[in-house]
Amino acid sequence: MSKSESLYAQAKELIPGGVNSPVRAFTGVGGVPLFIERADGAYLYDADGKAYIDYVGSWGPMVLGHNHPAIREAVLEAVSRGLSFGAPTEMEVKMAELVTTLVPSMDMVRMVNSGTEATMSAIRLARGFTGRDKIIKFEGCYHGHADHLLVKAGSGALTLGQPNSPGVPADFAKHTLTCTYNDIESVLQAFKQYPDDIACIIVEPVAGNMNCIPPQPEFLPGLRELCDQYGALLIIDEVMTGFRVALAGAQDYYGVTPDLTCLGKIIGGGMPVGAFGGRRDVMEALAPTGPVYQAGTLSGNPVAMAAGFACLNEISQPGIYPQLTELTDNLASGLLDAAQKEDIPLVVNHVGGMFGIFFTDQETVTCYQDVTRCDVERFKQFFHLMLEEGVYFAPSAFEAGFMSLAHSQEDIQKTIDAARRCFVKMKK
Ligand code: PMP
Repeated sequence: MSKSESLYAQAKELIPGGVNSPVRAFTGVGGVPLFIERADGAYLYDADGKAYIDYVGSWGPMVLGHNHPAIREAVLEAVSRGLSFGAPTEMEVKMAELVTTLVPSMDMVRMVNSGTEATMSAIRLARGFTGRDKIIKFEGCYHGHADHLLVKAGSGALTLGQPNSPGVPADFAKHTLTCTYNDIESVLQAFKQYPDDIACIIVEPVAGNMNCIPPQPEFLPGLRELCDQYGALLIIDEVMTGFRVALAGAQDYYGVTPDLTCLGKIIGGGMPVGAFGGRRDVMEALAPTGPVYQAGTLSGNPVAMAAGFACLNEISQPGIYPQLTELTDNLASGLLDAAQKEDIPLVVNHVGGMFGIFFTDQETVTCYQDVTRCDVERFKQFFHLMLEEGVYFAPSAFEAGFMSLAHSQEDIQKTIDAARRCFVKMKK
């Protein structure tokens, strides 16, 4: 029995499903999850000492690669001065200044501890500011696990086949209107039905929780227009895309200005951090300046802020995003080429440092319905063959992959060569 197998057996007795977050359990692909001992650069090392080229990157934060020295040193320095004060610090001001400079649509920002908290708080703020109850989200998009957002959600909720989780009261869910991603007409219909009741739209600007679906050119500008027309706020959830698709996020890449932005993952450099922010008049409605309540004992934690600040400093150096994009482009074109040589129908979507692999003979994959028509069994087979080859992709056909700046061209070539060997086996 491997060490991962024995740890998993023990974990299942103590932790529901043996994991502290569902997708980690390999629910989407079957088999025993790897227990990780350490990580460095582009590599993960499991409890049995095997190395893997990692395209999960802790589900997004590790844009610089694992255990980056600048982040590690910033954390160690912060730790030496104490772990938490529950009182304001200079680093929070520096962090707020950096984030609002990097993302110009954010006049003000508030730190929280996860992406879930960021979206939950942004929606409460939008409801409090507009005095309206209903929200619009999109099928297959995931925005964390707050009650009103677990309606037709993606990510683990999709993998587990439970888009509507038990435990979410129908009275909450009824305020969540679900539209079709990349279909502006479905959003118009929702506004026509409830012209005065919709507080906000929340959207993943590149959907990353039903694999990777970039927006059609008219989609995000169309959402902006409808929000303006009907007096609703546009919340762009950049928890995954922020500092990954481009330095100023997907909103910059696609040229759309939201009223509020949610951030997570990279903003913490690997520590538990989220943030939301945007228009000054909206943000000032938050307690203590305004009536909308939101708080957190560990929000703006000094160690987490030090990690996030170091990470954002590193990635705001010139040339970083062209490099990240080129690495992702190379992986995508190499995988497509290898698949074509072996007659395996494959679509690869990619933007900046994120990508998605679809086993399908559809020409394009642009919405949730397209994703559900892909061959999940083939993905599972590919995932396990690649794992044997020492390459760790996200353990679900419904999750995006993440490139890091620590991936070398050699790592990418190794991945492509491994994929070609797997495609040969998959043909048999
Ligand atoms: N929004 C998006 C777009 C996400 O991808 C995620 C998590 N993958 C979240 C929100 C929730 O973030 P967290 O897991 O940190 O609560």
